[in-house]
Amino acid sequence: MPVRRTVRDEVLEFSPYVPGLSIDEIRSKYGLTNVIKMASNENPLGAPPLAQKAIKAKAGLAFRYPQSGNPRLIAALARAHGVAENRLAAGNGSDEIIDLILRVKARPGIDNIVAFRPCFSIYALQAKLCGLTLRQVALRPDFSFDLDALVAACDEDTAVVFLTNPDNPSGYAIKAEAVLALAKRLPPRALLVVDEAYVEFADSGYAVLPRLAEADNLAVLRTFSKLYGLAGLRLGFGAMPAWLADYLTRVKLPFSVNLLAEEAGIAALEDINFQEKTLQTVRQGRALLTRELAAMGYAVFPSQANFVMFRPRHDAGELFSRLLRRGIIIRPLKSYGLPEYLRVSVGAPEENEAFLTAVREITDALG
Ligand code: PMP
Repeated sequence: MPVRRTVRDEVLEFSPYVPGLSIDEIRSKYGLTNVIKMASNENPLGAPPLAQKAIKAKAGLAFRYPQSGNPRLIAALARAHGVAENRLAAGNGSDEIIDLILRVKARPGIDNIVAFRPCFSIYALQAKLCGLTLRQVALRPDFSFDLDALVAACDEDTAVVFLTNPDNPSGYAIKAEAVLALAKRLPPRALLVVDEAYVEFADSGYAVLPRLAEADNLAVLRTFSKLYGLAGLRLGFGAMPAWLADYLTRVKLPFSVNLLAEEAGIAALEDINFQEKTLQTVRQGRALLTRELAAMGYAVFPSQANFVMFRPRHDAGELFSRLLRRGIIIRPLKSYGLPEYLRVSVGAPEENEAFLTAVREITDALG
């Protein structure tokens, strides 16, 4: 008799998302007072002053439901990015938009999803939850994109192709022109979802959002968790063909973007001073980390994002745990299938210095 699989069997096949370690966890585990977190690509300057002001000013409204569909935020996003309002959907982090696109676009049990390996874990997790096959295409050894192989992995049942640009965890990126050329090569049903979570940190010519209208099978994801310094409030959005934005708006849980997130998001868009300071901090810190890690003899990957991936000369796990014991949290990449590599988020100048000093000392100690 065939063994009957239960819902419990299926759910237990899921491994939960592995987040970076938290500051509180490490403080209590190692009895440290000073802990530096450079593990989750958050904003090194904190939350934008204008957003903090807006949260305080609106705190008394916490008893109200937000306005369904967040029309004020959508209008602000449309203005800031030059995208028509009917092409936009806001979500509880861009994670929610990833989930919604898969749910409304792909046929469970029939369609497949295509992405590189490794890819951002939420693509794989939500694809599995939606009953979709994930086809993964190896990145080249230097972590660059083999776009021919990506196209070759698609067929008439490919519902979505995910492209993270700049990529996580390598920081590699391709220009918008190449992204648009890729969109044109995909089979007719396939939607190209370009995850631009880190694109603001890239040089000019990489962002495809301003050119959304040039392809009708293109969606672009953006987040408020990085440049806009609001990871804890959970806010992201997608820009896409109007029919798809309409689908998302129909099925989305009505209040997934909460009232304070909406107010903070609108204020963060206006906080140009904070955005400029963040960009300057990240670009300078990224150059410093890249140069200094390379000077220690580590393989460092050129990054267009707010983090740097590197392969230490010594065991990556050992370097990670020794940093942890000193109160510096970075990201091991075992969960990405890259146990020999580490990723460090660009921090504030004093955090970058503390990290580099610690790595130098540990490297010397390991010989
Ligand atoms: N996409 C990528 C590639 C990411 O690295 C992240 C953040 N870890 C996200 C999306 C999620 O962003 P959000 O916080 O808006 O859900």
